[in-house]
This record gives sequence, C-alpha cells and structure tokens, in this order.
Amino acid sequence: MRQSLNQQHAVVPFVECPNCKQLLEYGATMCPRCREEIDPDYALLSASVVHHNTQACAIANTIKGFDPFAYLAIPLSAVMYLIDTYAVGAPALFYFVLAWPLIPLVVILVWFKRYALFKVGDEEFARAKGDLRSSMLLWLALLAVQVIVLLWMRGRVASE
Ligand SMILES: [Zn+2]
Repeated sequence: MRQSLNQQHAVVPFVECPNCKQLLEYGATMCPRCREEIDPDYALLSASVVHHNTQACAIANTIKGFDPFAYLAIPLSAVMYLIDTYAVGAPALFYFVLAWPLIPLVVILVWFKRYALFKVGDEEFARAKGDLRSSMLLWLALLAVQVIVLLWMRGRVASE
C-alpha cells in the first residue's frame, strides 16, 4: 500500500494529516480516519514537504542503484593496471577508472547539499540518507584504493 502511494507522489500531491499522519489527497478538508480538520494553508505546506521527501528518496534510491558498479570497478581497475604496467609502461588507462568513483561521489554530494537541511523528512527519508552515507563510504574506499595504486605505479615509473 505504502509502495503504491509513493509511486503516485510524483504526480498527485499528498498531505499528511497533522493528527494521525495518514496521507490524504490534496484538497481534502477533513481526515477520513481521525476526522481532523485540514487547514488549506497547512495542506499546501504539508504537500510540498511530502513532495520534497518523496523526491529526495527517489533520487537516493537511484544513486544507491549504482553501488554494484563500485564492485565492477575493482576487476576493471585490475585490467587497466595490467595493461598500463605491461603494455604502456606508465599509468594511462588507469586515469579513466579513477574518474569512475568521482561521478557518483559528486552526485551524492549534490544530494546532501540539497537535502541535508531537510529536517521534517519521515523515516523513509532517514533511511535514504543512511543508504547514501554508506554508498559514499563505498565509493570513497574505492577511490582511496585507486589513488594508492596510482601513486605506487607513478612511484615505480619514476624510480625506473
Ligand atoms: Zn487523521
């Protein structure tokens, strides 16, 4: 039920009942569940909060969907490393896999910049925020390993 409501958020604005937190269609004047009266000014504010929350969660889920690419980058980095070491003799292709984690990291930073101050998000928003934090750590770990390998490759070329 909750899932189907979330899918509709993108097109139909929802208002959260101030009393029982039930999601109501925008324009409702009374909560059908607890009979709380819905003030039109409150409804407008609540609808924008719900929309903001849904949007933040949707973007976070999309970003999280790219996590498997971090694991894919490990064998790819290894292949680039071997080509650079045995065919090129210096880091060249490896710079491309270094750019790989930079793209999601920038997107994650933009998300935090846009939604970090969003204090009224629900538990779904809190979970999305936690998910993105672990995505960020994953990509940062990948980047750190790649930078270490790159410095090591450069150091070896310089000493030859
Ligand atoms: Zn209610």
